[in-house]
Amino acid sequence: VERLVIVGGDAAGMSAATVARRKRDDLEIIALERGHHTSYSACGIPYWIGGEVSSAEDLVARTPAEFRDKHRIDVRLESEVVGVDPAGCTVIVAGPSGSYELRYDHLMLGTGAVPVVPDLPGVDASGVYGVQTLDDGEAVRAALSSAPSRAVVVGGGYIGLEMAEALVRRGLSVTLLEAAPEVMSTVDPDVGAQVRAAMGGMGIDVRIGEGLRGIESDASGRVRRVVSEGGSYDTDLVVLGLGVRPNTRLAVEAGISTGVKHAISTNRRMRTLSHENIWAGGDCAESFHRVLQRPAHIALGTHANRHGKVAGANLAGGYDTFEGVIGTALTRICDLEIARTGLSSREATEAGFCYEAVTTESTTRAGYLPDAGRITVKLLAERGTGRLLGGQIVGHQGSAKRIDVLATAIWTDLSVMELAEVDLSYAPPFGPVWDPVSIAARRTAAALLS
Ligand SMILES: Cc1cc2nc3c(=O)[nH]c(=O)nc-3n(C[C@H](O)[C@H](O)[C@H](O)COP(=O)(O)OP(=O)(O)OC[C@H]3O[C@@H](n4cnc5c(N)ncnc54)[C@H](O)[C@@H]3O)c2cc1C
Repeated sequence: VERLVIVGGDAAGMSAATVARRKRDDLEIIALERGHHTSYSACGIPYWIGGEVSSAEDLVARTPAEFRDKHRIDVRLESEVVGVDPAGCTVIVAGPSGSYELRYDHLMLGTGAVPVVPDLPGVDASGVYGVQTLDDGEAVRAALSSAPSRAVVVGGGYIGLEMAEALVRRGLSVTLLEAAPEVMSTVDPDVGAQVRAAMGGMGIDVRIGEGLRGIESDASGRVRRVVSEGGSYDTDLVVLGLGVRPNTRLAVEAGISTGVKHAISTNRRMRTLSHENIWAGGDCAESFHRVLQRPAHIALGTHANRHGKVAGANLAGGYDTFEGVIGTALTRICDLEIARTGLSSREATEAGFCYEAVTTESTTRAGYLPDAGRITVKLLAERGTGRLLGGQIVGHQGSAKRIDVLATAIWTDLSVMELAEVDLSYAPPFGPVWDPVSIAARRTAAALLS
């Protein structure tokens, strides 16, 4: 029988597995996962650590038993693929009871990403955690059971910020170190500044412009202090939130084509550019960026699930394409919702666009309702064409999901003049009569003409 081997049992890998099964009943499907869980929501880890989600099981969408019983997919946990031989069409698996070789007809790489660990003294001390898999989340939860009182989070990207908030919710006093002049480099600094203010309001000690220098530990090898460019901070645990890099060592060693940040290069059907029967998706793979018109590496669960679905359909003989990304993402930090799509000002400038950036303040509901919150919408539009290049939203409850209107506008190449005319909804509990998105589009259009 024809065999599909999947490496990595989370979003990309298991989406590919289930879609392939739906298309082809006769395929033998084996999924190899080095950790202890499949199909889990890494995105939910901060909410589990913060106590909003009570158990790891709640974050698991499907267990190995469900895959076996409902989909006839053979999931093997604690099974790490340590080598790929594309010429012989085999992988080497280090499993719980020893190593073995497995033949494949189709191979799907969904190995994800790994947290960036800086090459600095002490980063391997016990009590230093990266957060990427459910197993990582379990390690942080276990550390919290010994009632630590202080934590340092290194890195002010969204994962670092979500983790800082989660640790504060668990009663720790938290310092967050960010080397750049502002937190959240995926949005513009004026938007990031609002996020930093909200974190300060929640008691998080945010230190910007303070890169990590090293980590000191006690005689037993346990972390005790974090040293930054600006000071030193006693701590009981450290969480690294310095971003991720594609986990592609296996692919690189096997000679599989890679590109941006060594992420695996694929075509629109998620087939690798180098091997006919090897497919890839998720955080280990590149995506085509529709605004930049070139491959990019953006690690998001939304992309991973779509990649997996497309790869699974194609490798099972169907036809599906992945139409690219525009970097749409959102999060909630303290009482603020933050969302972005398309290009930030830095990205637009680096890409050579000539653009206008306009910030508009409005309210999330009709201003006369008691719980109307503040919302800021920042739009970037190309001079000359008026094409929407990017959008950022920060504000109180009800703000962030408006980003999907902006994402749809960028996806379909709308100009801000066109966006201003779109028939958007209105009722007092949801916004003012002119939606903040409409006002922002109209003002940006006006700025382009002035
Ligand atoms: C804390 C956190 C919050 C996030 N929040 C969001 C969010 O709100 N929205 C969003 O869109 N995205 C979010 N993400 C990103 C999202 O979780 C990832 O983009 C998504 O999980 C990627 O899926 P994947 O299948 O490519 O990789 P992963 O989920 O990383 O899974 C890869 C799997 O492969 C396994 N593996 C790796 N190498 C091998 C090997 N050699 N052999 C066997 N198994 C192997 C790993 O153990 C892992 O389980 C968040 C991520 C984190 C960590």
